[in-house]
Amino acid sequence: MSLIQSQQILQDYFGFADFRTGQRELLMRVFEGKNALGIMPTGGGKSLCYQIPGILLDGTAIVISPLISLMKDQVDSLHTLGVKATYINSSLTSDEYGERMQLLRQGYYDLIYVAPERFDNPFFMDVIDRLQISFIAFDEAHCISQWGHDFRPSYRSIIDTIDQLEGIPFRIALTATATEEVIQDIQSLLQIDDDSVVNTGFYRENLHFHVVKGQGKQDFLDSYLPNHKQESGIIYAPTRKLVESIHAQLIKRGFRAAYYHAGLAEDVRRKQQNRFINDQVEIMVATNAFGMGIDKSNVRYVIHYSLPMNIEAYYQEAGRAGRDGEVSDCILLFSGQDSHLQTFFIDQSELDDEKKALEYKKLRAMINYCHTDNCLPCYILDYFGEKNPYNDCGHCTNCTDQSEKVDRTRDAQMVLSCVMRMDQRFGATLTAKVLKGSADKKVKQFGLDQLSTYGLMKQRTEKQITEFIHFLVAEDYLSTGDHRFPILKLTQKAANVLKGHEQVWMRQTEVQQTVEADFDQK
Ligand code: ADP
Repeated sequence: MSLIQSQQILQDYFGFADFRTGQRELLMRVFEGKNALGIMPTGGGKSLCYQIPGILLDGTAIVISPLISLMKDQVDSLHTLGVKATYINSSLTSDEYGERMQLLRQGYYDLIYVAPERFDNPFFMDVIDRLQISFIAFDEAHCISQWGHDFRPSYRSIIDTIDQLEGIPFRIALTATATEEVIQDIQSLLQIDDDSVVNTGFYRENLHFHVVKGQGKQDFLDSYLPNHKQESGIIYAPTRKLVESIHAQLIKRGFRAAYYHAGLAEDVRRKQQNRFINDQVEIMVATNAFGMGIDKSNVRYVIHYSLPMNIEAYYQEAGRAGRDGEVSDCILLFSGQDSHLQTFFIDQSELDDEKKALEYKKLRAMINYCHTDNCLPCYILDYFGEKNPYNDCGHCTNCTDQSEKVDRTRDAQMVLSCVMRMDQRFGATLTAKVLKGSADKKVKQFGLDQLSTYGLMKQRTEKQITEFIHFLVAEDYLSTGDHRFPILKLTQKAANVLKGHEQVWMRQTEVQQTVEADFDQK
């Protein structure tokens, strides 16, 4: 197998002139027979990286995917291209199953798609044990890592089973979302060298990120949706109840919308999903149960009605917009209250304390995204530890915000010294109360009204002070650790500000401008 042959297949079978970034690099590792990992954004063209070797190499390639819903679509489109491919999963009748297993045993297929659970089936194992396998591909490979946001224990446990199979030349792993920890985990589980990791980066220039704060969520929808009536979009909401009520509101306002959540019967879900995919309705309102494996290329916007649980989940869900490369919006509607629900979800989960702490920390990073003044996709890239080739995307809420940046160093010093005087033992709400000079019971109870910083910012509202504290957290002047209740601690950057070695600049929002103008007049 060579690059020239691959190029030929790309043109003859798929009808594409050239490889996309990352595809060629990954295929080169594969030609050398190396285990390889490809990290490419959603819509980046990961499937071709195993489909082409599957067609070219002798034997049958096994593609493991947790997404049963996607298998049929992929196989159908491979059939139209004349590729011998199939899928084997629980949706088959026993006749279909028998027939496919028979053909598999005869080595007929170039590619078969299976879910991880298939490896628990002794009959299947017996057949593939005798089969000439060209390679094994792990699609959505982040699901095998316990550090990934979508860890599937069944996916991980098959690795041992596969290790025991003889004659598997190599493995290919593919994912669109992977933090440094997840990448390392996948590498060590599947024995992939550093040289064989192809990471094209996550950045997708066509996605325009926005955070909407201080505006009613329904008001926002009322102003945004009529201007995007002909376009496909997804609205994510955190609970089934909210999904249904947003959906009802949209129908009432004359929009064509479907809805989807895990509480609906399988056939209802499929019907709703198809209405959206086939463009019978423009809007899909859904919980995060919707979307994995949905290959709809013309989604022009993804609106999050509430805070997602972490940046990984957000980027994956938001990334369902613009798979066709056209400019698309990723909008997050933020209100400070949203974090309570996500904290509650973590509290209620069955995770052990260590994992819960990690989830709280990830949730904090998600909240910080809503408070930062910096370029939004840059913040996301930073979170994934990726070098950011652009300083500003030029399109997000923060990059397009024309408001002037003002020097808030003195305010920052007040907050930071208050945190210091409160022994770095309390959260943003109580700190704001102290700075406001509130007569709150808790303030008195802890004797915080005796501090020299008590009432230092009394001319501002508690809400303004709290928001400013969140901004200081987002900009890394304060950290909140991984406790369930975020406790403010000073960072190195804070020390620099307190010593007067660093200034703090913040965009002046309209609300602040009015308040400050009011004070100026007094
Ligand atoms: P991913 O799995 O990375 O999300 P897909 O493999 O589904 O992405 O590919 C996304 C779209 O890009 C598909 O419609 C696919 O046909 C198309 N595509 C893939 N590779 C190329 C290429 N080299 N040139 C043009 N289009 C491509």
